[in-house]
Amino acid sequence: MHGSQDPPSALLRQLPSVDKLLSDARVAALVARDGRATVVAAVRGALERWRERLASAAPDPARATELGARIAAGGVVDDVLEALAAEARSGVVRVVNATGVVLHTGLGRAPVHPEVAEAMATAARSYVTAEVDRESGERNQRDARLGELVARATGAEAAICVNNCAGATLLALNTFGLGREIVVSRGELVEIGGSFRMPDVMVRAGTELVEVGTTNRTRIGDYEAAIGPRTGALMKVHTSNYRVQGFTESTTAGDLVELGRRRDVGVIYDLGSGRVELDSARALDVLGDEVRVRDAVATGADLVLFSGDKLVGGPQAGFVIGRADAVALARKNPLYRALRLDKVMLAGLERTFELLLAGRGDELPTRAMLCSGERELRDRAEGLAAELAALDGFTVAVEPDTSQPGSGTAPLVGLPTWVVRVAARGRSAGDLARALRLGEPPVFARIQDERLVLDPRTLLDGDPERLIAAFRALA
Ligand SMILES: *Cc1c(COP(=O)(O)O)cnc(C)c1O
Repeated sequence: MHGSQDPPSALLRQLPSVDKLLSDARVAALVARDGRATVVAAVRGALERWRERLASAAPDPARATELGARIAAGGVVDDVLEALAAEARSGVVRVVNATGVVLHTGLGRAPVHPEVAEAMATAARSYVTAEVDRESGERNQRDARLGELVARATGAEAAICVNNCAGATLLALNTFGLGREIVVSRGELVEIGGSFRMPDVMVRAGTELVEVGTTNRTRIGDYEAAIGPRTGALMKVHTSNYRVQGFTESTTAGDLVELGRRRDVGVIYDLGSGRVELDSARALDVLGDEVRVRDAVATGADLVLFSGDKLVGGPQAGFVIGRADAVALARKNPLYRALRLDKVMLAGLERTFELLLAGRGDELPTRAMLCSGERELRDRAEGLAAELAALDGFTVAVEPDTSQPGSGTAPLVGLPTWVVRVAARGRSAGDLARALRLGEPPVFARIQDERLVLDPRTLLDGDPERLIAAFRALA
């Protein structure tokens, strides 16, 4: 008898060899496109799957015969082609975001301003002044200019920039707390997602977490009682992706700073979302009580941390800003070197802050999306609905709904919007959503009450046309 891992050799002999598959004209054509290593991997994978199929079919002669017939008809080649097609669809490709989630982490968060994208593309393909002073020809700090721009936009004494806010958090904790204790409220021990949990980060930063208060109530006295000779810093974490509501009490950053001064311990304020606001652009009041970076800095916290690709609307980055002496300490930390930005991000972030400071903040795509008005959104939804209704097989309705800022920013804020609800003849909402994701161009929508929902808020220039083209391909 044969074990299930080991199909009868008579069956196995029906499988074509690797070389035979590679010499198939359709497979050989893909070697030119994808390279031999990729195609050979797909061939090996397909053969492995067929071996398993044959092994499980071995006890059933009728099924084994059927598989043999499929192999003879080119079933393995079909499998290889399908695997290569699936691989070509994977990885980073441009998509249409019709979810209405503005800072969609799954879809890459902030799409940047065209001038920012241009600065990034130029930096990518050229040599740049990443770390050299043009006047003296001497080496300088790579984010010196960016730091000045950020400080100017936020009121901070100094600023440095690293790979992302998770990196900024690691750097700040390690700078103030290596071998020491960091005091945090139990109500603020957040998980940001993707296994970034504050208590775990503390351990990796070489600090010891001291939790104070309870989930719903933490008072200034709780922090004060926890301060001892090993205290490295007090930390406030913006609970960006959830809110504790009801019988709650938390300590303001201002109170923490006052306590820190009195007891001579530093204060780290992890803001996450980065609501940078200048008078020259529309205020992001739609986000309710989301803390402004400028106000967080004004509390006098030693370090304030926030992301570059959340509300700032720039490329991925994490800022460490605040008091000059504290920022200088963070800059001296060897971890800063490990977390530093590359020239492309640097160029994009400089341009983003130049636009903000030049009074062009409203042009940044994510900020424009967050501020889109209901009337405009309704017009756009109606325009889309009219075009979709003209295609065969879809029924549409325009209805009021809410969009989300996303990325855990302002979790309780729903932005009033107008959406197109779509039903497709003979397809469930889930099937339609999958077909759109796999289509060309790929479209991401949301599903609500068994219907597909398209939110015009997150469509960029040219996206409505792409969206209609994607539906036309399915009609
Ligand atoms: C989002 C967030 C982070 C992580 O920021 P990334 O830029 O995604 O690394 C850290 N802290 C808080 C409070 C956040 O909201």
